Amino acid sequence: MQFTDIAFDIEKVRQDFPILHQKVHGKPLVYFDNAATSQKPKTVIEALTTYYEATNANIHRGAHYLAAKATEEYEQTREAIRDFLNAQSTQEIIFVRGVTEAINLIASTYGRANVQAGDEIILSTMEHHSNIVPWQLLAAEKGAHIRVIPLNEHGELQMEEYQKLLSPRTKIVSIVHASNALGTINPIKEMAAMAHAVGAIFVADGAQASVHLPLDVQDLDCDFYAFSGHKVYAPTGIGALYGKKALLEAMPPYHGGGEMIKDVSFEHTTYNELPFKFEAGTPNIADAIAFRNALEYVSSFGKANIAHYEHQLLQYATEQMLQIEGLRIVGTAAQKVSVISFVVDGCHPNDIGTLLDTDGIAIRTGHHCTQPLMDSLGISGTARISFAMYNTKDEVDIAVRSLQKTLKMLR
Ligand code: PMP
Repeated sequence: MQFTDIAFDIEKVRQDFPILHQKVHGKPLVYFDNAATSQKPKTVIEALTTYYEATNANIHRGAHYLAAKATEEYEQTREAIRDFLNAQSTQEIIFVRGVTEAINLIASTYGRANVQAGDEIILSTMEHHSNIVPWQLLAAEKGAHIRVIPLNEHGELQMEEYQKLLSPRTKIVSIVHASNALGTINPIKEMAAMAHAVGAIFVADGAQASVHLPLDVQDLDCDFYAFSGHKVYAPTGIGALYGKKALLEAMPPYHGGGEMIKDVSFEHTTYNELPFKFEAGTPNIADAIAFRNALEYVSSFGKANIAHYEHQLLQYATEQMLQIEGLRIVGTAAQKVSVISFVVDGCHPNDIGTLLDTDGIAIRTGHHCTQPLMDSLGISGTARISFAMYNTKDEVDIAVRSLQKTLKMLR
């Protein structure tokens, strides 16, 4: 297969990522674990060093130069996230540690205030544990029920089943935009409209989609959209939650502490305005600042251009892997991000991962934090290859050759 219309120079991109240029077990590193976390370009790494060398101060409260500078840079990232998601206002962007914290925040605030006994929360079979457990905690506390949308044989949501699950009892629908275990891209715009038709809110887990798909939360009409910086070439420990302003305003706060208040007395506390009401305590300032460099890095290539290239990697690798006898790809949706989960007759995924590692190839194996999905498929786990913009066709060839060798050893 010939790759076409690649809008950027991959070798130049690779030069931006220092970590890629090393040997692992004597072989050049092939990093195919991008769905777990992406590597970081120099611009992000340097932003962290620069922050600590030149800017470090606590934000928002200080009267001095450094505090003002750190605050300005921190708030510039909020604006960059607003732009990345096409949200209406920076008041709708809350810094969080990542998707896990974002969903816990929604469940603990919106959920606690709005879900009652007998209400229903709709999830899907392919959800990550971070989009299951917070809702289970809420449901247990409130006497609410979780309903689950089943999948078809390609790993796509059965939309007619979703329609049947929706009712006036539905209060929240929370769905992954793109699955980390299957790659499936879900039709969240349509799903949000269906949720709204019964008066429910729609939450999107954008952990995987955010790096691959152009996003417009106004067009998608999600009530909440969460993503983690570390999957978008930004540092770990920082992410963002978008929420519609009217919902955020009506919600009780999440954590209590400094920064989220207007006035405190022992009798009564009034809360700060959005988005600060949801950002108690000293935040992760350095990583938040470097987050902007990551988003600007992605935007400088254009997400559509990155997606076009990654899709070719996905198609090429899929073609090559399907030629391996006994290998089955788990997740064959018509719309996929660049994730390939697979199982091989007679081979444990962990053994595949361990042997590929000896050839310097980093993949992920196991249940990918989607145990209910694995149970529904009747498997304990898969091996998973996932691509980023710096991966190459040559790397796919190296991995396929290593896989063929590995499977001969294991069978
Ligand atoms: N949802 C999906 C689909 C994910 O892939 C992940 C990360 N593996 C998460 C949620 C959780 O993200 P984080 O660990 O960054 O909070």
